[in-house]
Amino acid sequence: MAIDDQYQIHLQKLTNKEQPVTETIYALGNGHMGVRASNPLQGNSDNYEGNPGLFVNGFYDLSPITYGERYFGYPRNNQTISQLPDPRFLILEVDGVRSDQTPFRVETVDKNLDMETGLLVETFRITTPKQKMLTLTLQSFMSQSDYHLYVVRYEIRALNFSGKVTLLKQHNYVNQSIPNSNEDVRRAQRHNPLGQVYMPADSPTMLIETQKSQLGILMMFHYLGGDPRMKMVSRNNIPCYQVQLDLTPGKLEQFAFGYSLGNIHALMTVEMGPDFYIKKSLERFHEQNFAKLFEASANHMRHFWQDSDIVIDGDPTLQRGIRFNLFHLYQAAGRDGVTDVPAKGMTGPGYEGHYFWDTEMYMLPFFIYTQPEIAKALLTYRFSILDEARQHAREMGIESGVLYPWRTINGEEASAYYPAGTAQVHINADIAYATDLYIQVTQDTDFLENYGFEMIISTARFWLAFGNYGEQGKQRNKFVINAVTGPDEYTALVDNNYYTNRMAQNNLFIAVKYAKQLQKENPTKLADLGVSEEEIVAFQTAANKMYLPYDDDLQIKMQDDSSPNRPVFDIANEPRENFPLLLHYHPLVLYRYRVNKQADTLMSDFLFPFDQDEPQLQRDYDYYEKITTHDSSLSRAIFSVLANRIHNPEKAYSYFMDTALMDLTDLQGNSADGIHAANMGGTWLSLIYGFAGMHAGINGLTFDPQFPSEWLFLSFKVKYHKRQIKVAIQRQEVTFTLLVGKSINIFYREQEVKLVDSTPVTIHLTELQV
Ligand code: BGC
Repeated sequence: MAIDDQYQIHLQKLTNKEQPVTETIYALGNGHMGVRASNPLQGNSDNYEGNPGLFVNGFYDLSPITYGERYFGYPRNNQTISQLPDPRFLILEVDGVRSDQTPFRVETVDKNLDMETGLLVETFRITTPKQKMLTLTLQSFMSQSDYHLYVVRYEIRALNFSGKVTLLKQHNYVNQSIPNSNEDVRRAQRHNPLGQVYMPADSPTMLIETQKSQLGILMMFHYLGGDPRMKMVSRNNIPCYQVQLDLTPGKLEQFAFGYSLGNIHALMTVEMGPDFYIKKSLERFHEQNFAKLFEASANHMRHFWQDSDIVIDGDPTLQRGIRFNLFHLYQAAGRDGVTDVPAKGMTGPGYEGHYFWDTEMYMLPFFIYTQPEIAKALLTYRFSILDEARQHAREMGIESGVLYPWRTINGEEASAYYPAGTAQVHINADIAYATDLYIQVTQDTDFLENYGFEMIISTARFWLAFGNYGEQGKQRNKFVINAVTGPDEYTALVDNNYYTNRMAQNNLFIAVKYAKQLQKENPTKLADLGVSEEEIVAFQTAANKMYLPYDDDLQIKMQDDSSPNRPVFDIANEPRENFPLLLHYHPLVLYRYRVNKQADTLMSDFLFPFDQDEPQLQRDYDYYEKITTHDSSLSRAIFSVLANRIHNPEKAYSYFMDTALMDLTDLQGNSADGIHAANMGGTWLSLIYGFAGMHAGINGLTFDPQFPSEWLFLSFKVKYHKRQIKVAIQRQEVTFTLLVGKSINIFYREQEVKLVDSTPVTIHLTELQV
């Protein structure tokens, strides 16, 4: 099959080719695990530059958080994703010298990721201390059809010599040596020692175990081939595949290995039952080879693209950039119902592998509309941590409902700095919002009844108990929510953060909506959860009376009660090197000013397009744009969507380009620590909610495209109400095609569009203008 250039991420096209950055860019994953594209000879030797590692979603260890002063209810433990041994690791032995003991020179010649199939091909030139030169090519993929499988093939040839080379495939270390850590709080500063036991001692199956969280995972590696020269030996009492080669220039040798990684279990259970796992893994590899395993995975990947691709004509770099974001989103999302999407995927240790509101507000729309099964699995994870969230609410003095942790892996709050952590209670309403969106778009009533309703009611209960009715001035008899932090982390612990209040209001409204629906359809569910008529009325009243701060003089939505009285921080005259400000100013300095890290009140304008007319949106936009630094990668996508809504195509385009190419250009300067997964979801939001102007309105699915002059064509597919619809936008027309499902009416602006069967329906712009 012809290779499509616009699916390729080629090293030569990257602006930043530094090793730690390319390790992230070329990281491969499948929701269960991810591996950085390291130098394969590095292992845990710090003589090479890089930060190799394998990350398993949800595999973490605990370590005590040390506080100078620990107050009641502070989280006790850090949760840090574990950095497992790099499965790409290979040892070369030439002239009696081993590459893991004496550094060989390793130059990256080329790398290419074919996103269409998920195949990564990399070529390295290796020079031994005695100046013998070799080429090492790695072909690898993370299986998308079997989430437990990673496969790597090594091709080796001598360049300037004939002689013996031994290839050793052995994991003789488990604890990755750490590159110099710096003071960036966004990086993981902790690495908890792991234990490693070969089970049984003579087989390459290791049990990797954490110390405090007491988790275990089994990892087996297996030679995929029948070459009799490949031997399983024991070196330093550790199982090792070994092959001795007689190389001559031009002669190519190749060997493939499969890695089978189990599920995460409590340590005791894994210790007791490796036999079953070993048997399963051997079955996985039985009569298999690289090509067959690859084809199964590549087919799966092609299905992904069939549903989720976005095609853009007019800008090949952007086309690749968009696909890069979608590819990584897919790689990052947990699919098992017990894991979520780490803020950095499984591409690096940044943010310690934690899950944030990033999933619900930035990534879930993509999954809901194109891969609803994954969206469901991600929301199921949130359901699975309801007990921890309930406990967390109690610690916060709230007697009913739940409070989701701001950042977590295991469901417990892991945020050591509560002003920019636990205080972001909007997470509750974010999860409720995304649950509602999922239910609205998919009409998955089973999910509503079995999971969603409980999540929505439990989060709504929190607001009733956490907020209160004001007693004075404008806030008298209004429902107010005090002492919170909104999305903007440069402003903390404020009263009535607009976004939080509006989202809490939405949370209460949807609780009422579903309670009334279930009163008719499944009243026992209400009874099971103890939802009474009085409670529904209380939700409704609080929502109706929600206080939303507004400045009557400026006629803008105020971020919170105190923001108008803070001086404006002079962003324009701040030296460039001082951004992000969080690395240069004490938080209290920033809190005293009007300066935003990211979209905050504008997030509310973004999510609730019918709350305001265009002049109001324009005023909010102009006001907040001036005080926003975009120091968070979660900001620009929202500005892009809103710029489209105020018909400012230049701004929409410029913010969008920064969003779409953020990691490929290392725009934030920290892609080395891992991808910016929320921003990747933001790329989809900017395109579909922004340029295509899609929203699931009260009438139904509506499109209001704003088409930038730079493009010729934009096309994508969405799943909605058990249908799949293809949308193709050109400057003069929009075409809708019903691909799957029964006839449906959708909207182009206010105009109803009837999709009866698979015949494409085209709307010409001129028709509309008549
Ligand atoms: C942002 C948060 C985000 C977190 C993880 C922070 O820099 O301010 O909104 O949830 O990064 O991506």
